[in-house]
Amino acid sequence: MLHPLPYGAQLHPTTLAFLRDQPKRLWIGGRWVTAAAGRTFDKDDPATGLVFATVCEADAEDVDRAVAAAREIFDNPRHPWRRMTPHDRERLLHRLADLIEADRQTLAQLITLENGKPLTAAEGEVASSVRMFRYYAGWPTKIEGDVKPVSIPDRLNYTLREPVGVVGAIIPWNFPLSMIAWKLAPALAAGNCVILKPAEQTPLTAVRVCELAQEAGFPDGVIQLVIGFGETAGAALTAHPGVDKIAFTGSTEVGKIIMRAAAGNLKRLSLELGGKSPQIILDDADVSKAVIGAAYGIFSNAGQSCNAGARLFVHRRVYDEVMAGLAERAAAIKVGPGLQAGVEMGPLVSREQLARVQGYVAAGLEQGARLRTGGTRPPQAPEGGYFLAPTVFEDVRDDMTIMREEIFGPVLAASPFDSIEEVAARANNTPYGLAAGIWTRDVSKAHRLAGLLRAGTVWVNCYSQFDPASPFGGYKQSGFGREMGHEALELYTQVKSVWIGL
Ligand code: NAP
Ligand code: MG
Repeated sequence: MLHPLPYGAQLHPTTLAFLRDQPKRLWIGGRWVTAAAGRTFDKDDPATGLVFATVCEADAEDVDRAVAAAREIFDNPRHPWRRMTPHDRERLLHRLADLIEADRQTLAQLITLENGKPLTAAEGEVASSVRMFRYYAGWPTKIEGDVKPVSIPDRLNYTLREPVGVVGAIIPWNFPLSMIAWKLAPALAAGNCVILKPAEQTPLTAVRVCELAQEAGFPDGVIQLVIGFGETAGAALTAHPGVDKIAFTGSTEVGKIIMRAAAGNLKRLSLELGGKSPQIILDDADVSKAVIGAAYGIFSNAGQSCNAGARLFVHRRVYDEVMAGLAERAAAIKVGPGLQAGVEMGPLVSREQLARVQGYVAAGLEQGARLRTGGTRPPQAPEGGYFLAPTVFEDVRDDMTIMREEIFGPVLAASPFDSIEEVAARANNTPYGLAAGIWTRDVSKAHRLAGLLRAGTVWVNCYSQFDPASPFGGYKQSGFGREMGHEALELYTQVKSVWIGL
């Protein structure tokens, strides 16, 4: 089943052993099972286009079983998970963090194999996911209610912060491990049961994490894995009356479908959706730093980040200098298979994604944007893989498709501006509001612009900075709810008010 990797990469023995045992199965009620309907699907390597794994494909019946198993736990106040002390939940989360850390080589190789990103980036993703689990391991012992100063005589009122119940976590393929950690860690810290539905493009990292969760000793059924397609497994989870909450990251389009599907039993929802984030370079910026930062903001993860800084607004006085620097930087990025040493940008995740992005490049050219660099397959990239060179369009008008729609690829749309008021209005002229970047040496302009931008995160003189302590989420159609920080605990707990007659 496993094709030799034509670009000569070596896999760790543990990774090879993991890949030998196929098809990869679903994890339901503490058992690794095939799908009820017996179906499987293939997974290809984005660097070669060759199939290297087969996974079981869950549908509504498998989701039913997982929900039933989770409800049996959550609805039983005597179940060990429901009675577990905060201290023991902390220990379990730390154990899982330890196991992920010990397994970092295999996890990073699986991330690269299934997503395509450079191994160094995959290693970074593993390290930051370990930090996420450790951060939330600290929370079970600190989730508190309080006593309210009510003015009714002989009454005591206090609050309890309780888990929401059975959580469906539906995640995308762009950060196969981080997206699991962002949802699993706070949900478990708060005492919920979680049913995980990874993206069809990246099921293997999720299988591996669940193996580690099993080893860590989470009770059977507290964490479950249904691998499958969005339209079947995902839709079944979203509509299921036994699911209390859906935590979703993905496209705005699917976010809207999920919102409608969740209406049946009024599920709690948190939605982390798409973006078209602006990066703004003022005329007083340190141009060389801004160029490196802006290139990182769009080209890291091959542009497949919800927060990709895909629109670049540059003050007219420094526009030519910035564009020349960016074109040079983009052309110098080493593109290739993620497992090859020295590669800075991998392929796109799938054939479909490459076709989508190529469609946007064509639309840019058709509508008269000027292609400064890229736009085609890098000549040195291996045949069969889903590669696209870092691409920069300049003099892009605000009404052009490539300035308006989320591309989710290594394509930057740049345009000059003249004043802060003008650029703030243009930057906000989008249905999205996930993130924004500002490059300036003027502290008052930085704060003024940060206040004017309608985005959930603003980075000044940096981009794509994340930490478990800092909340992340969208304004406008980039979604709602904040992941990470103590804010994420709001998503996975609910408040009960208790009155006592004295
Ligand atoms: P997507 O379709 O929104 O998928 C995200 C997750 O939702 C996947 O697990 C997907 O399953 C699932 N899903 C799809 N349709 C569903 C439905 N009707 N009900 C329940 N779950 C459903 O995103 P994608 O297909 O991975 O990529 C499409 C576009 O979404 C990208 O090009 C990009 O614009 C955007 N995107 C945004 C982010 C972000 O972080 N904000 C991440 C990834 C993608 P399947 O994998 O089986 O489809
Ligand atoms: Mg999809």
